[in-house]
Amino acid sequence: MQRPRALPALFGSLALLVFAALPGAAQDVDAYRDVANRLIDAATANHDAYARLGDLVDGFGSRLSGSTALENAIDWVLREMEADGLQNVHGETAMVPHWVRGEESAELVLPRHRKLPMLGLGGSVATPPGGIRAQVLVVGSFDELTARADDARGRIVLFDVPFTNYGETVQYRTNGAVAAARVGAVASLIRSVASASMQSPHTGAMRYEEGVPKIPHAAITVEDAQMLHRMQDRGERIEVLLKMQAQTLPDSPSRNVMGEITGSEHPEEVVVLGGHMDSWDVGQGAMDDGGGVVAAWEAVRLIKELGLKPRRTIRVVGWVNEENGGAGGRQYAADHADEKHVLAIESDGGVFAPQGFGFTGSDAAFDIVSRVGRFLERIDAGTVTRGGGGADIGPLMQTGVPGMGLEVDGTRYFWYHHSDADTLDKLDPDEVARCVAAMAVVAYVVADLPEALSR
Ligand SMILES: [Zn+2]
Repeated sequence: MQRPRALPALFGSLALLVFAALPGAAQDVDAYRDVANRLIDAATANHDAYARLGDLVDGFGSRLSGSTALENAIDWVLREMEADGLQNVHGETAMVPHWVRGEESAELVLPRHRKLPMLGLGGSVATPPGGIRAQVLVVGSFDELTARADDARGRIVLFDVPFTNYGETVQYRTNGAVAAARVGAVASLIRSVASASMQSPHTGAMRYEEGVPKIPHAAITVEDAQMLHRMQDRGERIEVLLKMQAQTLPDSPSRNVMGEITGSEHPEEVVVLGGHMDSWDVGQGAMDDGGGVVAAWEAVRLIKELGLKPRRTIRVVGWVNEENGGAGGRQYAADHADEKHVLAIESDGGVFAPQGFGFTGSDAAFDIVSRVGRFLERIDAGTVTRGGGGADIGPLMQTGVPGMGLEVDGTRYFWYHHSDADTLDKLDPDEVARCVAAMAVVAYVVADLPEALSR
């Protein structure tokens, strides 16, 4: 179609002016400052998220994969999301491992009697019914175990390894049983993977290897591990009686739980945010990761409550089985492979004082989310750094979806992690509210930008 010339030129520049004033014209991130402030104000005006997290963790307690508590908690989330008026609220089946701890104990028998606080590690086999009583060999590393391999046969090996960082120290929890069994040990113990301790054992996942005998594997406290080490250094004979009734039952069905605000222009494009519904079978899974689920959920509820209608779909997901298998994250990626995910955001580092986000994606996308992050400077959560994501969104990220992980002040995280002390009281209502604000701002702005975040 031919157009007259002068008038459209004028109209064109007017239109440009009008558009520039609207949120997001040509990825005009700054246009979202007001709405970001409204979200932050609303999120930090009350302690709704903390109250809801209390309902979840006090109401259902710990939520290990395969447990009735987890399924009841998922049912409750479905009802509450419906009541919030979220759209497309439903669960999606994922088959999860079903490990049950059973009765368990560890007793120092020599050189003196003491009951050792302990937790079997997730996936461990049981001891024989009468337990395993054996002499203990304490080592400080895998290398030391290799060097003392001849002393390990028939013993219970204890890895007394100080916490440096999680990734490093967790190797002994994950692979300790295999290493100890290879040199003929009858069971293995670890010093709990914790950055501070008040005689609390910390559980977590472990693995066996094809062709290597499966021996029982458990955590004792930091204090007791060090004491046993000192006893060995004095030349004392140490014996422990370990009893565990753990069993692995057949896989059982669980669900990823989700609800959304369907996009007004591009409903098929999705910003997904969430945490994991399951926890270990101790404490309340408040930090890890009830708080992550609730922060993401409250973020979406707030966006809806403020009447915002993002161009793209915003979906909150509570994944299952992060702790001992990762089945939920894999299942979600498979179930939603046909959808275009613009961004995936996870909170699984505790909902302590938020500092910002870690981001994995293209330079262009990093530039955009960094600019969105600036809106969060007023709550000290504006730092966006390179590299980040989460275990549950990992499978999505492997398909090229940009991923983001909420970064918080992690000082106290490994004091409580996977222990009976992961309870609501460890969290601060104002800090939880700021996590909600951070998640809400990023999710809303990225879901509403005129153009999808580039890959
Ligand atoms: Zn977690």
